[in-house]
Amino acid sequence: MRAAAVAPPGRLRATFLAQPHLRVLIAGAGIGGLTAALALSRIGMTVALFDQAERLEETGAGIQLSPNATRVLIALGLADRIEGAVVAPAAIRLRTSSGRNIATLPLGAAIAARHGAPYWVVHRADLQRALLGAVKAEPRISLTLGAKVDDFDIDAAGVCAFVCGTACPDGTDERGSALIGADGLWSTIRYRLGDLAPPRFAGRTAWRALIPAAILPPQFAEPMIHLWIGPLGHLVHYPVRAGAAIHIVAVARDPWQSAAWDTPASREEVLARFPTPQWAGEARDVLAAAERWQKWPLGDRAPSRPWGRGPVTLLGDAAHPMLPFLAQGAAMAIEDAAVLAREFARRPDDPAVALRRYEATRQPRTERVQRAARRNDFNYHLGFPGAYFRDATLRALGGERLIARYDWLFEWAS
Ligand SMILES: Cc1cc2nc3c(=O)[nH]c(=O)nc-3n(C[C@H](O)[C@H](O)[C@H](O)COP(=O)(O)OP(=O)(O)OC[C@H]3O[C@@H](n4cnc5c(N)ncnc54)[C@H](O)[C@@H]3O)c2cc1C
Repeated sequence: MRAAAVAPPGRLRATFLAQPHLRVLIAGAGIGGLTAALALSRIGMTVALFDQAERLEETGAGIQLSPNATRVLIALGLADRIEGAVVAPAAIRLRTSSGRNIATLPLGAAIAARHGAPYWVVHRADLQRALLGAVKAEPRISLTLGAKVDDFDIDAAGVCAFVCGTACPDGTDERGSALIGADGLWSTIRYRLGDLAPPRFAGRTAWRALIPAAILPPQFAEPMIHLWIGPLGHLVHYPVRAGAAIHIVAVARDPWQSAAWDTPASREEVLARFPTPQWAGEARDVLAAAERWQKWPLGDRAPSRPWGRGPVTLLGDAAHPMLPFLAQGAAMAIEDAAVLAREFARRPDDPAVALRRYEATRQPRTERVQRAARRNDFNYHLGFPGAYFRDATLRALGGERLIARYDWLFEWAS
């Protein structure tokens, strides 16, 4: 079940410029911050990466990486580090919660041929390990954990960030030519830039679990993304870890609000939200197979501008948090990283200009994706009669035309 990578031209490596005088500070070493650090180092920049966490660990969850994201990761030279852990699903099987087939959207070789890059599903920890390994192997990047970027000042020489945490208990000032806030949904850098409004809770909770593939019948380990949609919620499951484990995410309406990422939840709590007869036995069997669950409330923001000021900007969820209903949050962070490096390579003499050009390129696209993700919230969870007409329309279109509707998303290249 090892996936074949389609290697695009190494764009990021091709734009190497030696810029040793430029030191970029990045707050946050999530998928966005790690990818940005790598992309900037590949064009010759020095990067100081800080994360408030003492250890970078990803809880048991999977992630879909569409060709617009895998193209960047492969160009950064990550294929060798990650290929052994990914699955390239052959298709997305879309069903109603009662189990009726709606459509099968082809992925696999078809999508790799169409877009020149594969569609992968991967355990987040495996993606993070690959990114972290590449970051640690890069002498231009320093990574400090237990280091929260709490504030910054802009002056004529660039930016001075105030960093505190267990790595520097008394706090320390870090100077850079630019500061990138890749610090997630609850971004401190966004707040310090003047956006004091908290993110919006969507009134939905996602429960996620990872189970050994061996405890389910063999068809669940086949390379396929299963998406079940119903008025009460939706369910996604697919194999990760080269088919050895199954990732499950179940989303339902729920008023719970919290900023935590790893709240434990019980199997009973999940099953209660996916009751019979609305949910097919097969869907409930998948849910019942997982004993340990974690949950987190879903949130986003409406698209907003500006993202930054002077030599400071935002990237990833800090800039454009979105609902996960298009599976594009991390993909957008990865795209951001590639564009950031491209614009720094074009205007290495003027970080503020490079950052405004980065923002101007990224904003229309990420806004479109944020809106499309919110629309999917509405479309996935329609009740009767809307669901009836939705399903009839999707069936009539068929899988090939449905996946082609995402060409605008997947064919992107920096
Ligand atoms: C249920 C669910 C499923 C999803 N599925 C997909 C999917 O299939 N495909 C996809 O592309 N996306 C998916 N996403 C979205 C994706 O997880 C996020 O968009 C992505 O992880 C955002 O990455 P980031 O680096 O911007 O932020 P984060 O991952 O939130 O990382 C931010 C980092 O910053 C650190 N930090 C925070 N504040 C500070 C500070 N002040 N100083 C220093 N460090 C700080 C944090 O410790 C953290 O490490 C999903 C999201 C959810 C909720």
